[in-house]
Amino acid sequence: MKDYSIIALLLTLLAQKPYDPMLTDEPFNEYDFIVVGAGTSGAVVASRLSEIPEVTVLLLEAGDTDFGNHLVKYPNSFNKLQRTSVNWNYDIVDQKHSFFQMEKPSKYPRGKILGGTSSINGMVYLRGSPHDYDSWQDHGAKGWSWRDVEVFFKKVENAVGDEISDRLGRGGMLNVSRGYRSQMYDKWIKAGKEIGIKEVDYFEEVEGISRLVCTYSEGIRQSSSDAFLRPVYEERKDRLHIVTNARVGKVLFVTDENGKLSADGVTYIKNGKEKIVKARKEVILSAGVIETPHILMLSGIGPKNHLENMMIKVVVDAPGVGSNMEDHFNNPLYFKLNSPRYYGQTKNSMKEYILNGTGALSTIVGIDGVLHHRTKYFGTDVSLSTKKRPFPMIEALFVPSPYPIVFSTHEKPAFHSGAVLYLQHPKSKGTISLNSTNPFDQPIIDPNYLSNHDDVKILIEGFRQLEKFEMTETMKETGFTMVVPDVCNGQVNKNPPRSDEFYECYARSFSRGTHACCTAKMGDKDDKMAVVDERLRVRGVQGLRIADASVMPHITSSNTQAPCYMIGQRASDMIKEDWSLI
Ligand SMILES: Cc1cc2nc3c(=O)[nH]c(=O)nc-3n(C[C@H](O)[C@H](O)[C@H](O)COP(=O)(O)OP(=O)(O)OC[C@H]3O[C@@H](n4cnc5c(N)ncnc54)[C@H](O)[C@@H]3O)c2cc1C
Repeated sequence: MKDYSIIALLLTLLAQKPYDPMLTDEPFNEYDFIVVGAGTSGAVVASRLSEIPEVTVLLLEAGDTDFGNHLVKYPNSFNKLQRTSVNWNYDIVDQKHSFFQMEKPSKYPRGKILGGTSSINGMVYLRGSPHDYDSWQDHGAKGWSWRDVEVFFKKVENAVGDEISDRLGRGGMLNVSRGYRSQMYDKWIKAGKEIGIKEVDYFEEVEGISRLVCTYSEGIRQSSSDAFLRPVYEERKDRLHIVTNARVGKVLFVTDENGKLSADGVTYIKNGKEKIVKARKEVILSAGVIETPHILMLSGIGPKNHLENMMIKVVVDAPGVGSNMEDHFNNPLYFKLNSPRYYGQTKNSMKEYILNGTGALSTIVGIDGVLHHRTKYFGTDVSLSTKKRPFPMIEALFVPSPYPIVFSTHEKPAFHSGAVLYLQHPKSKGTISLNSTNPFDQPIIDPNYLSNHDDVKILIEGFRQLEKFEMTETMKETGFTMVVPDVCNGQVNKNPPRSDEFYECYARSFSRGTHACCTAKMGDKDDKMAVVDERLRVRGVQGLRIADASVMPHITSSNTQAPCYMIGQRASDMIKEDWSLI
């Protein structure tokens, strides 16, 4: 009998992941700064702080390395990343007003890997409307108006290619490019003109139809890890330490002789062992919209009653921790076509991708364009887009490649393309609360989607807006007709197709969210629900800041990664200023 063990060993070695040279095995006991979470914002903060040669930074990440993970790098593998170990796959509580048709328990995705959610997201790069940030300022985030923040977006961005707007930055670390354009996109533009919707360059003017700019370059995803950590770790090995599979449990505090409370370190669990590491200057929480409030509450910063019920010693009574969760509720839409010739993806797509890094496979399912629209409710109580802050309420991302239709329908179109309809400024708000005091138990997540009926009205207007495209001569040529579901809340949908009631049930049954924010929001001192001040410092303690999606006072009229990059950039500049490191 042959001995196959050597072959098995060789195969095992070949299959083994090579060690990521960016990682540190032996962290120090103390650093100037500890950043919790190597995600979209956290990687920026750690990278920018470690620019200062005299400063030491520890970056702790609960997930694994992205090194050698080809799924993360290849844009079109987006779907394959959604139910894997690089995703937190949170359970969310059964929703009263939505998710009728979704699997139970429904899952909420977030990236658990170097790069965080920027390693698993759809790569769409949209800054939001200038009015979003002016509205942040209106709500107490002093110094975060568009005029204040634009420069920080630019510091992050490195726009690649000639066709991209001059408004984007060109010297930053994050490569963004204007990629793919399908035939279907041209149809959207032509049809839009017929119904009075203009083509715009999103970075010049938000409302209208625009081609997308994405966080990919030459066909490869650019996560925050690729952009902000990999290019610098070699020269900064002495002062920037990155530890993966390190789950932070809580922030530690000391009280000085004057009774002032300061964060002076964190506990983290790696390989089953709890460790303590100290921060000489600050701890920065960048663990994202769910884990940042989770860590705060486990550390004693949160709503007093809730913490007392969980037998946690209250360090700061902060009622806003875990509240105000806002998300872009989004609906998949499908359009029947009379031919596959408008598709992005063809049999040559793989060849094109391999040879040039271009084409439909350089993006996820070929997404290439976006529509932003205010709806007829603009300026009314239904909409948050008051005349004062006219941001769009609806976004539709165009998906020219066919993707699986998620609902049952007696129409089985031979060819179809799609769009994803987003509600940009929801009035419904959700919560994050503790389930237990074990850091490994996920918190209770209740997004409370569509609890406010105005959100449904706005979504229906989104459907109506897309219906208008069907009536255009351009789209009639393509056979473009919306495919609608037969089911509603587990029953045959008896509502007249395309009535308001029909669309309401469609939205409540098949929508989801992936852009949550605002669970530790920024605001002024009179706002009891504000967790951080305008310099992102947690109120009531010293030496603790937050930099991630949770600090947004309100969600932006855009997908949320660009603002998270901006927040990371802004936070690091503020920290440097406050410690006289600039
Ligand atoms: C499926 C999906 C698709 C999306 N598509 C887009 C898109 O196309 N465009 C867009 O603009 N936005 C998109 N988004 C949203 C956007 O990516 C996020 O809003 C943004 O990346 C969040 O950044 P963050 O810094 O707040 O958190 P994250 O990037 O999630 O970073 C948090 C990090 O902290 C780590 N962490 C958490 N807890 C701990 C702990 N206890 N100890 C140590 N580390 C911890 C996490 O593992 C993670 O790495 C998408 C989101 C999802 C889920």
